[in-house]
Amino acid sequence: MIYMDYNATTPCDKRVVEEMLPYLSDEYGNPSSLYKKARTARKAVDEARERLAKLLGCQANEVFFTSGGTEADNWAIQGTACALKDKGRHIITSLIEHHAVLCACKALEKKGYKVTYLPVDSYGMVDVGELKKSIRQDTILVTIMYANNEIGTIQPISEIAEITKSRGVYFHTDAVQVAGKIPLTVNSPGIDMLSLSGHKFYAPKGIGALYIRKGVKISPLLYGGEQERGGRAGTENVAGIVGIGKAAELAQEEMREESVRVGLLRDRLEEEIKKRIPQIVVNGHPEQRLYNTLNLCIKYIEGESILLNLDFEDICVSSGSACASGSLEPSHVLLAIGLPDETARGSLRFSLGKYNTEEDVTRVVTVLAGVVERLWRISPFWEKDKEQVNGLYRKSLRILQKSQKYGKNYSC
Ligand SMILES: *Cc1c(COP(=O)(O)O)cnc(C)c1O
Repeated sequence: MIYMDYNATTPCDKRVVEEMLPYLSDEYGNPSSLYKKARTARKAVDEARERLAKLLGCQANEVFFTSGGTEADNWAIQGTACALKDKGRHIITSLIEHHAVLCACKALEKKGYKVTYLPVDSYGMVDVGELKKSIRQDTILVTIMYANNEIGTIQPISEIAEITKSRGVYFHTDAVQVAGKIPLTVNSPGIDMLSLSGHKFYAPKGIGALYIRKGVKISPLLYGGEQERGGRAGTENVAGIVGIGKAAELAQEEMREESVRVGLLRDRLEEEIKKRIPQIVVNGHPEQRLYNTLNLCIKYIEGESILLNLDFEDICVSSGSACASGSLEPSHVLLAIGLPDETARGSLRFSLGKYNTEEDVTRVVTVLAGVVERLWRISPFWEKDKEQVNGLYRKSLRILQKSQKYGKNYSC
């Protein structure tokens, strides 16, 4: 089996599992209790918090554990909206956010908040000028993802943070695809809140964290006990927390080397696919892009057909976004960068990681070329299409109109 879907989830690193195991059996103490056994669990939680803080370059008391990236995003957005509702009710985000952000914003719209969905260019970059213009007197939060999970485009986070800081607006970033991949320091660009998720960097599913800069006003999402300094009620997922702490430590030690190794694999994959299959369009920014991500469109074929054929050969990749599969709706990200529906449907995402090898790349290229050739031969569009070969990316005005229309129609 070859796994190239690391942006959807990653396997747990064995060293992470090792570290977690005691907390699933003998060390079952509740960190809130007062006896020795509980103090062992408390200590483990504190240590994990330190490790995560080290990865982010922040204070340990600015790290709050959650059940994952989705909860962290929802907490940042809904928690800010609630805490600052008397200051204003306008939020700015982008059209290419993860559903955890988009749907949280949609939910707030139903409660009377106003949301601006910034368009992106054909690379998936948010226009910083457009952001500046969108900030109003009643804007309370800008939430823009650090890097996109589908196409890998990395946003100009420092520039955005500078703007929000100078305008006195909170800045939250969904860094789920960045934590553990690229060195991250929350302080230097002046980020107020940042989400991350364990299972995207070799820790288990169901654990994540929200960084909240000291002094940021935010209401809890969950009410109950005093866990996480009153920020997030509920008995801690001690084993998960230990896991994400260990994963953070490993990432810090191994990130640099891994990013070079995996980056070279991704580049080779991209080059060889381009050589073997004509008319490939690579999505995302050519340089400002996650080093492990390759999103491409293959004309005339549904991404799903390719995916299923690759699965038959025990190769795991994604088409569109994981959340969108099951339905044949093209991904909102690909529509936002201006791809026509039919091109967006032919999209495929390869996302590489720790356990990929040179041999994986070689095999994937060979199998993919065979699958595509077979599918092309039976494609009804293969003969028909003449005029649209060159016009894959539309002019910026078209993109803007389309994405704004899409933003309005977006339903959660
Ligand atoms: C996976 C992902 C999430 C959701 O994280 P979960 O821990 O699965 O809830 C949020 N944002 C981005 C960009 C992601 O890739």
